[in-house]
Amino acid sequence: MTTDFIDVEIPEPGQWQQVSPGILWLRMPLPFELDHINLYLIEDYDSVTQTEGYALIDTGFGVRKTQEIWDSLLAKLDKPLTKVIVTHMHPDHIGMAGYLVDKYRVPFYMSHSEYFVARAMCAGSRGASDWQDDEYLVRCGMSEDYVANASEKRKESKGLGQVIMPIPLQHERLQEGDVIKIGTLGNIDSVETDQWQVIIGRGHSPEHVCLYNQHTKVLISGDHVLPIITPNIGVYSTEPNANALKMYLDTLPQFKNLPEDTLVLPSHKQPFIGLHSRVDALIAHHHKHLQSLKEFCKEGRTIKQCLPVLFKRELNEHNMFFAIAEAFSHLNYLYFEQTFTRDINEKNQYIFTLKSDLLSD
Ligand SMILES: [Zn+2]
Repeated sequence: MTTDFIDVEIPEPGQWQQVSPGILWLRMPLPFELDHINLYLIEDYDSVTQTEGYALIDTGFGVRKTQEIWDSLLAKLDKPLTKVIVTHMHPDHIGMAGYLVDKYRVPFYMSHSEYFVARAMCAGSRGASDWQDDEYLVRCGMSEDYVANASEKRKESKGLGQVIMPIPLQHERLQEGDVIKIGTLGNIDSVETDQWQVIIGRGHSPEHVCLYNQHTKVLISGDHVLPIITPNIGVYSTEPNANALKMYLDTLPQFKNLPEDTLVLPSHKQPFIGLHSRVDALIAHHHKHLQSLKEFCKEGRTIKQCLPVLFKRELNEHNMFFAIAEAFSHLNYLYFEQTFTRDINEKNQYIFTLKSDLLSD
């Protein structure tokens, strides 16, 4: 079993490609190494307003450039938006939601946790001491200079509000097991074709929504299941005792209950077939990292010292933020399953060590 990309050309920003009957694939640019996000439009009928249009899944980074691309795309599109659904709170997914919801005055769907985390992240500085953010970086083993520099940057930063348009004031809650109806008048007789089941993934973000259509065997996987790249699984300063990797590994196997020939529509890279082998590969990837860390931490190590074990490439500042969070999530996982001890040294840094009774030689 392999993962195979479907034979559809990648859409240019402002264009679209049909990937399945009634489903259009869009791309928006991102100013990072990962330079794009995929968005999807599904043909829909709003029975309240009796409007034919499209349900949108995810919205793009909330900056002027994306807005311009949206404006030109919407001018070409034959029908309006009927609803906006966002898989999770990261700026490339929720960024333009407010703009689009305000433009069409349509309902906005998210899970409860993702909606409120997004609103909190956009609220900006709380205007009080941020010693806990400093402490997080110290515990990670970052240098004094790095911690001071990050603190300075936080003071200047306007937070995620810079890259997320004002978030809609209301949301429709999506939760595990919910079924959301997205479909046209044409398929009103065959009810099941417009039923999308909500499947929640955790670990990459708090309550990430995936949508699965049992009838057409299409999965909108967001960032939870990606081809080629692995979603970032991080422990951040807002919850340093999170066991994010466990949450991720616990919510991956459920996707193997879906058919192997499911068409997976991910948020990055390309749509593919081969869900089971991709889930297996993602699980194996993390177990390989855990195994390498067990080897490396026979002597006590800081989180920063573990970075070369997980990342073979040079890390820039943007990547470093996510890299230490990712290393933290693996080390916390080994700590909570009692494979590692976690101590604090004289510099106030966490030291993770393989337990002596687990040393093989
Ligand atoms: Zn994400």
